[in-house]
Amino acid sequence: MLRQVVEGVLAHESEFIESNAVVVQGEAGVLLIDAGITAEEMVAIADDLRTLGQPVVAGFATHPHWDHVLWNARLGEAPRYGTARCAADIRAFLSDEHWKEDIVEELPPEVDVPLELLGLITGLPAEATQIPWDGPKVRIIEHQAHAAGHAALLIEERRVLVAGDMLSDVLIPMLDLSAVDPIEDYLAALQLFEGGAGDVDVFIPGHGSVGGADQLRERIERDRAYVLALRADGVSSDPRIGPSAKPGWEWVSDVHNGQAQRLAERNERGSTG
Ligand SMILES: [Zn+2]
Repeated sequence: MLRQVVEGVLAHESEFIESNAVVVQGEAGVLLIDAGITAEEMVAIADDLRTLGQPVVAGFATHPHWDHVLWNARLGEAPRYGTARCAADIRAFLSDEHWKEDIVEELPPEVDVPLELLGLITGLPAEATQIPWDGPKVRIIEHQAHAAGHAALLIEERRVLVAGDMLSDVLIPMLDLSAVDPIEDYLAALQLFEGGAGDVDVFIPGHGSVGGADQLRERIERDRAYVLALRADGVSSDPRIGPSAKPGWEWVSDVHNGQAQRLAERNERGSTG
């Protein structure tokens, strides 16, 4: 199930929207980042880890969207961390009694997603700069872009960046349209990634293919071009949308049209006061 990305870092790509679950090997067990989507795959990851004799000793969710905060009982009861903002956001989401229906609406019926343990995230203190666990140092790079409390993680000694829902080759930048200035937030986050690119040999996006240092710079550029096009007039020739979208990913064009329209509406409201 799990395949090695570099020594000490394993990953599994889900059949559902190419979601990547990431495992970092530590002293007495592993850190599991964004555990996976279907019950079957999370059980398979748990079984792989059992075979390796490496229990999950900590979890981490890169951000408070449902596809990043799932869990399965077979993975055990380790603390599942997120940024303070991530934990607060998912807590608010779970306080709405209709949250399950909201998620089920988004799901294709054939995907078996266990919702029982969704979102049980322990917020780290706002000033935390690394994950508290017995393993290689994992630096938390929090930024405002795709979701409240979004965090990328840098496994420094492995030179691996876990990017959360940034830098995907299949998904366009999806802005946090609840933010005051989603465009500038996103550009600032890309700049943050660019500034740290020299410390990275391999990066793992939340969805899509793992890449090396060269691809990291390409994807930062592509995402920046997309966001700048959104800021300019909403017209983008990004290869992830339109006729060049990957088969099965045509819906990303709808995401693009939706956010371009909402931004245009915001600008309209802004300019008319
Ligand atoms: Zn996602």
